[in-house]
Amino acid sequence: MSDMLALTFDRSREKWESSTGLVRERIPVPELDESSDGADRSKVVIQVMYAGFCGSDRGIWWRKAFGDMIDDSLSEEGRDKRVVGHELLGRIIAVGSRVGEKYNLKVGDVVSTESHIVCGACHQCRVGDLHVCAKDKIIGISMDGCFAEYLKLPAKALWPTDLGRIRPEVAAVQEPFGNAVHACQHADLRGQTVAILGTGTIGLFAVLIARGLGAGKIIGVEVNPHNAELARKLGCDEVLHPGAPDPERPWASSDALHAKIMDLTDGVGVDVAMEMSGFNSSLNNAIRIARRGGNVVAFGVKNGDAHIEDFHRVVMNGLTMHGVVGRQIFGTWEITKSLLETHSNGIQDAVWKHILNEGKGTMVDIRDFEKSSFEQMISNNPKALIRFAGH
Ligand SMILES: [Zn+2]
Ligand SMILES: [Zn+2]
Repeated sequence: MSDMLALTFDRSREKWESSTGLVRERIPVPELDESSDGADRSKVVIQVMYAGFCGSDRGIWWRKAFGDMIDDSLSEEGRDKRVVGHELLGRIIAVGSRVGEKYNLKVGDVVSTESHIVCGACHQCRVGDLHVCAKDKIIGISMDGCFAEYLKLPAKALWPTDLGRIRPEVAAVQEPFGNAVHACQHADLRGQTVAILGTGTIGLFAVLIARGLGAGKIIGVEVNPHNAELARKLGCDEVLHPGAPDPERPWASSDALHAKIMDLTDGVGVDVAMEMSGFNSSLNNAIRIARRGGNVVAFGVKNGDAHIEDFHRVVMNGLTMHGVVGRQIFGTWEITKSLLETHSNGIQDAVWKHILNEGKGTMVDIRDFEKSSFEQMISNNPKALIRFAGH
């Protein structure tokens, strides 16, 4: 059996609580074996070209999130090692016997993947709401992922990608881009005033998408000056600082931000407020700056309780609140494809130039991976890519 390079967390090697990062090591290449597992008939082996490193991966890197999910899933599988990573572009190198007929995929096809592997049998799956499957597994968390030269995936999750229309480095981030598309699908943005609170990677994608979908005024709210600058470049009409939090009430909204937004919207408020930072104060800002009858899209996550300030606002202002998870399978992927492949909207170029910085300082080859320099890269950039020999 041949082996391959992979970035892993191994609970028999390092303790979750007292370690950081991922370890590069050689592990066996996954293979299809239909005689021992019938499910392999509907699976493929993919040679990875590029993998994206995202916020969830940072959560794993610094042991801030997903520890329980990784631990539970490893116990279920009776293993200790998890290959991390869920944003990918790769080429199919082997297919199970039913893949061609059932999924119209073949060896040589270039694909990205939906990262939520749905069960197909629960209530949500049966009514077509696959993105909220009750038993979904997440690639790189509850099953092995794509920070590896090869991985095995169910064909049903794959998204064929035409490299004649989209450059491979951008195609590798269709999954997180799709997350932002999904957030933007919750309200009709055409002609609307949209606030995006938190312009990290997903917030920056959302700026491009809102612009591409025909939003009117787009207002960013951001603390980090580098991200604020990027948000302006990518199409925000204004980018505001939310102001320093009140130490006594760190969850509270900002009077100064509210006043400024009212000023920019003729005293009305924004039609759609998208919370993409995960801070409690930001959620309260979103609720407060939305106009009466407006939409609040909650995307940022933080575990534990949140404090909703003046809850009556939500009710008495007739707000519509939305929680966003994952991507509609595959409706969101269709919109993602069209936004990224329509060159005239400038989105693909902007992702490459500004978010991926044309690969400069944002990309490392797996063969050159080294913990401390990689940690620098993921700390300094909204999005980092790992390149594999398959590219
Ligand atoms: Zn991700
Ligand atoms: Zn399901």
